Amino acid sequence: MKIIAIGRNYIDHAKELNNPVSTEPVIFLMPETALIRKNQPFFYPDFSNDIHYEVELVLKINKLGKNIAEKFAHRYYDEIGIGIDFTARDVQADLKKKGLPWEKAKAFDGAAPLGKFISKEEFDNVTNISFSLEKNDEIVQHGNSKDMIFSFDSIITHVSKFFTLKIGDLIFTGTPAGVGPVKIGDDLVAKIEDKVLLKVQVR
Ligand code: ZN
Repeated sequence: MKIIAIGRNYIDHAKELNNPVSTEPVIFLMPETALIRKNQPFFYPDFSNDIHYEVELVLKINKLGKNIAEKFAHRYYDEIGIGIDFTARDVQADLKKKGLPWEKAKAFDGAAPLGKFISKEEFDNVTNISFSLEKNDEIVQHGNSKDMIFSFDSIITHVSKFFTLKIGDLIFTGTPAGVGPVKIGDDLVAKIEDKVLLKVQVR
């Protein structure tokens, strides 16, 4: 099982980090050891002083595929969930400055808390899914899949040019604006529409 993540998929978030708006999806991978499941806590790592939350919709792949045409891409995922792509922003800034890969800032142990999934059938329209993140009972991020630069289908098409998708693979589809730091003691709650699907305590 692999975890594929998309960077800079919402214009307002690319702008807040002063990144150019992408003409093709920015892709990075995370190992399975990045996942936190079942609302287990996140332990603040000692190599960073600036861990940021990024709430993201997550696709679960249900079919083996490579070079998937966009018109068939919707057949390759059957569930949508929510996750957090924790980012060590200080480590990432240093790696970016040196032109080095991001994994140490993005793919470390516990960097990807993953919530419950909802069957795709339960959504009227997957291109209009609202989601949010609350930190200590205050909404800090709010997004909608309609504002994605690259749709779920175009992500699947692009990713599958490079990586064979396998059953159970996860795709984190990028974060909207509003990313910010966490500190020990914070409580995060992620929702799709009004359903709470993920809770994370920072310890
Ligand atoms: Zn992200």
